[in-house]
Amino acid sequence: MMKYISTRGNAPELTFEEVLLTGLAEDGGLYVPKDVPKFSPAEIESMRDLPYAELAHKIIYPFVEGCVETADLKKILDEVYGGFAHKAVAPLQQIDHNEYVLELFHGPTLAFKDFALQTLGRLLDYVLERRHEKVVIMGATSGDTGSAAIEGTKACRNVDIFILHPHGKVSEVQRRQMTTVKGDNIYNIAIEGNFDQAQDMVKASFGDQSFLKGERKLVAVNSINWARIMSQIVYYFYSSLNLGGPVRPMAYSVPTGNFGDIFAGYMAKKMGLPIEQLIIATNKNDVLHRLMSKNKYEVHALEHTITPSMDIAVSSNFERLLFDLYDRDGAQLAELMGRMNAKKDVVSLDEAKLAKARETFDSYAVGEDATVQTMQEVYDETGYLLDPHTAIGVKAAREVRRNKNIPMITLGTAHPVKFEEAVERAGYAHPDLPHHLTDLMEREERLDVLPADLADVQAFIAKNTFK
Ligand SMILES: *Cc1c(COP(=O)(O)O)cnc(C)c1O
Repeated sequence: MMKYISTRGNAPELTFEEVLLTGLAEDGGLYVPKDVPKFSPAEIESMRDLPYAELAHKIIYPFVEGCVETADLKKILDEVYGGFAHKAVAPLQQIDHNEYVLELFHGPTLAFKDFALQTLGRLLDYVLERRHEKVVIMGATSGDTGSAAIEGTKACRNVDIFILHPHGKVSEVQRRQMTTVKGDNIYNIAIEGNFDQAQDMVKASFGDQSFLKGERKLVAVNSINWARIMSQIVYYFYSSLNLGGPVRPMAYSVPTGNFGDIFAGYMAKKMGLPIEQLIIATNKNDVLHRLMSKNKYEVHALEHTITPSMDIAVSSNFERLLFDLYDRDGAQLAELMGRMNAKKDVVSLDEAKLAKARETFDSYAVGEDATVQTMQEVYDETGYLLDPHTAIGVKAAREVRRNKNIPMITLGTAHPVKFEEAVERAGYAHPDLPHHLTDLMEREERLDVLPADLADVQAFIAKNTFK
């Protein structure tokens, strides 16, 4: 049975089931698998002809073994990927010679987060059913995460979900993707305030859960939950196998915010998939690019951009990579993270450790003008409209690619219809909604507007959880 350990070395080892229900480790660290499952080239080769859901089973099973029965996992994954709007689930789109976009936006909410959250919702319900427990999911969103979490848990019998968003500050498509989902267990709370206030209320609620009167506990579905990363490893294998891996190595460019999606690529490499290069593509919020290129870690204030899903000041999952770079020494990492989180001085990594990271990782930061220009460039060259996050990945790939003979795959993290501001700036008409969402603008919305007041929000949650 797979065990999970904390990156800071001072928390109990947990099973997958426990990790699923736990956010941060009690020492403040993140959980990672104690041993990474490895596949030989011949084993990977033997997966070549598997459809997506079956490949997902091969990759995910070792991480959940002992907690989820193999047949139950199969049922869950068939259901999840059967619900995607494209038969191939994660199709590749070629945009140049040896250059591809991996389309990860055919799930219910049109962004890659569906891969993880559709699976996570079902796994959570499966585990809770067996434990005879119910939980409350609480989260704050400025867009993609909220809708994906709601879609992923709408059918859960043992989960009530409360998603806070800043009232009037998310795009109409994104708001409707949250507020039109039907389900007695779904609550959209529009906060009369900004995203940071919503986020602070969520953090405070996790810190002191007494408002739930001890009858339920809160579960986090943000990207520090290991179960999310696990699901994202699969599409690296899928795309590689489709382009001649494992014989041929691949390079990936990943539009990055919290470092979850790209960490999944790093995991795929550790599991045996030949990946030559992983590019950390960021927007103006470039804390990781500054660290990778100059070895200076310094937190700047968050900037709002036309790629809101990558707007972060700190990148939480990077700690998982640091753990490996520091030879999985929890005590050393706890000390390093203490300095990095103090946000006072500029922190530098040990040069040898950074050099180890640079063997695989490169980084590049893309400003708004260059993002829009890349959308135009690719459209002119191919007639294909990128979403702005994906455009950042493509731009970074074109700037720092190491070897043109190795296929470069940029993760297509969202459908452009979700990001109208960027599409307009690039001078294009608003794209049509995909066929499964054509009536989104007519569907009935459900939301509760609340003041940015912690007591009010907690009272609302308590009342609606115990009816
Ligand atoms: C969440 C998101 C990202 C960033 O992913 P991380 O795993 O946080 O690095 C990039 N693009 C889109 C469209 C997203 O929704």
